[in-house]
Amino acid sequence: MAKLLEGKIIAERIKEGLKKEIGGLPRKPVLASVMAGDNPGAEAYVRSQQKTSAALGVEYLFHKLDKDINEAKLIELIQGLNADKAVNGVILQLPLPAHIDYKNICRFVDPEKDVEGMHPANMGRLICGKAKVLPCTAAAVMELLKSIDVDLYGREVVVVGHSGIVGKPLALLLLDKLSTVTVCHIGTNVAGMLEEHIRAADILVVAVGKERFINGELIKDGAIVIDVGINRVDGKIVGDVEFETAEKRAAYITPVPGGVGPLTVTMLMRNLVEIAKQKK
Ligand code: NAP
Repeated sequence: MAKLLEGKIIAERIKEGLKKEIGGLPRKPVLASVMAGDNPGAEAYVRSQQKTSAALGVEYLFHKLDKDINEAKLIELIQGLNADKAVNGVILQLPLPAHIDYKNICRFVDPEKDVEGMHPANMGRLICGKAKVLPCTAAAVMELLKSIDVDLYGREVVVVGHSGIVGKPLALLLLDKLSTVTVCHIGTNVAGMLEEHIRAADILVVAVGKERFINGELIKDGAIVIDVGINRVDGKIVGDVEFETAEKRAAYITPVPGGVGPLTVTMLMRNLVEIAKQKK
């Protein structure tokens, strides 16, 4: 039976350290958060950011915009936050309304205030192995692996999902550790190859956003399973992996909730503190 990889517990330890670092800064770090329209997932993430900010001594400035906001107005707000010397970090809550192109908008956030590490300049630094801040969810997965002291060198790591916020940056971080990284996506599935890759994974990370997407019977004995997915089913939060069967085969598995999620918001705060320290 797998051991639980509880991000919640690791997050508490990291937050203790961050609280001390924040106490040593000349003033409270300020995180500006921009959300357009309504989305239950984004709202839950905002609540978690607000709670964590309050606990750590971070000032959280929330800008809630109408779902019909146009790109020009959104860019104007972002540029105002960039120019505001009191603001240390800017986060754009996803998803943005469908008529707004995140890939275009994220480049308007000042790279020095890009608390999510999503600006093309920061992505470029990541590719060069010179990142100042890491994309939060990818960093959260790496922290989970670090917590069990797993040697990533040469291990078969399979990442299912190739989004810009999770799969792609995570693949780069794992490559830096000389893991053998396979990134699967819809094309892998259509080609009928997904099962084969999952069966071969020493470490499996899933970020798809479909409940029970991964059949637990496919998990290799003794694998490490990190389930990034967040799905709402009958008022409950579940991941992408069929937990009950997967936990019988894996050595470690993340619970959902309580796995990756609490660490993602902690990584966001860690990025903010790094940015605030550089300013100091
Ligand atoms: P996304 O942008 O929608 O990406 C989903 C990925 O899954 C895409 O790469 C997609 O491939 C792939 N995919 C979809 N259907 C597939 C299939 N049938 N077979 C193989 N691959 C398939 O989502 P995301 O933003 O990365 O988020 C993924 C999940 O993680 C969501 O549940 C989200 O809520 C959760 N999440 C959790 C945290 C956390 O802190 N715990 C943070 C971020 C996201 P194509 O693009 O090729 O279709």
